[in-house]
Amino acid sequence: MTACPVCGQRTIGKVGTDQYYCSECCVEFLVRGENVKIFNVETDGTLTLYNPLQDTAVNLQEG
Ligand SMILES: [Zn+2]
Repeated sequence: MTACPVCGQRTIGKVGTDQYYCSECCVEFLVRGENVKIFNVETDGTLTLYNPLQDTAVNLQEG
């Protein structure tokens, strides 16, 4: 079961093979095994890498 790595909610939808969108944070994230990449969705629809310097607890759900 996949949860949003940013907020931990399950308010996510699948948008690609390993790609999900969280309607809570408005981010997309890509899951490749244990690797999770998080992207901001800009207003024009482009994806930018989520800023990990923002000290939000990235709570990776494992298992
Ligand atoms: Zn989220």
